[in-house]
Amino acid sequence: KTVCVTGASGYIASWLVKFLLLRGYTVKASVRDTNDPKKTQHLLELDGAKERLHLVKADLLEEGSFDAVIDGCDGVFHTASPFFNATNDPQADLIDPALKGTMNVLRSCAKTPSVKRVVLTSSIVATFANGKPRTPEVVVDETWWSDPEFCRQIQQWYMLSKTLAEDAAWKFVREKGIDMVAINPAMVIGPLLQPTLNTSSATILNLINGAETYPNFTVGWVNVKDVANAHILAFENPSANGRYCVVESVTHYSETVKILHELYPTLQLPEKCADDKPFMSTYQVSKERAKSLGVEFTPFKESLKETVESLTEKNFFK
Ligand code: NDP
Repeated sequence: KTVCVTGASGYIASWLVKFLLLRGYTVKASVRDTNDPKKTQHLLELDGAKERLHLVKADLLEEGSFDAVIDGCDGVFHTASPFFNATNDPQADLIDPALKGTMNVLRSCAKTPSVKRVVLTSSIVATFANGKPRTPEVVVDETWWSDPEFCRQIQQWYMLSKTLAEDAAWKFVREKGIDMVAINPAMVIGPLLQPTLNTSSATILNLINGAETYPNFTVGWVNVKDVANAHILAFENPSANGRYCVVESVTHYSETVKILHELYPTLQLPEKCADDKPFMSTYQVSKERAKSLGVEFTPFKESLKETVESLTEKNFFK
């Protein structure tokens, strides 16, 4: 079978491509720059790449750009989307590539009859950013939707970009009769295959690289290999449908620092919180649907260990 992975050089997508090749798929992978070894070399070195990996140039903001890479595919994994927070132009930097890019990819799918299913990489941030309280007894699940107006009010542009993109995707696929499944992961950590630093791995690097304080945030976490697997399960299981939250555990950064200290007692870690407000509350995220899909979750402590080891091995950790 032939499948397409958009944004193949990214953190999650690199693991997805690796696992797809191991499972015998032929992978047509879109990258923005086919001539940049930092974006392609780690993919070309994967087992099976010589025989079954095809890199194709495509950009989210170019109309029709994905026609060639999607042509002839049985499935499409749409992972490409910018993930960072700092921007002076959220519309151009985050919202347009996420929203217009997703529509661009889906329009190519709509005109390619071989495509049997699309798996969309959404995010947990498309579920909870709606002003509803999140407290220890609250369980966020797939019925939750973020509110674009609320995202704008709190100026969380990445959250807004993912919410608008997923919402527009569902509207489009329903109208066109395309079979789509969405994966909604929390903050993804674990080993890096790519040589560059991505945003979610940087959250851990910041903690171990001499930060004096940790953020007063509570964040959900999940291992990158489990997220990649969830995408494949969502494609291969005919009964998969709708959205799947993929979140192993939710911790406040103070707790994350504590676990890092247990793992690495001699490591210098931030000792105090960035502000003196009460700690942001924890909450739960339902694992029910993810488990029903067959997703197995690596414990957070193990994922943290893999992340630190990988950051060290790749010389990010000074
Ligand atoms: P990366 O930053 O590693 O990957 C993002 C990918 O998107 C890159 O391949 C990048 O290409 C591509 N991309 C960005 N802008 C464009 C564009 N204009 N045209 C074509 N490609 C573009 O991030 P992740 O692997 O972390 O994220 C992958 C997906 O997972 C995203 O949809 C993200 O929202 C989602 N996600 C990530 C989470 C996380 O914690 N990491 C959590 C939940 C969801 P290039 O390499 O050329 O820049």
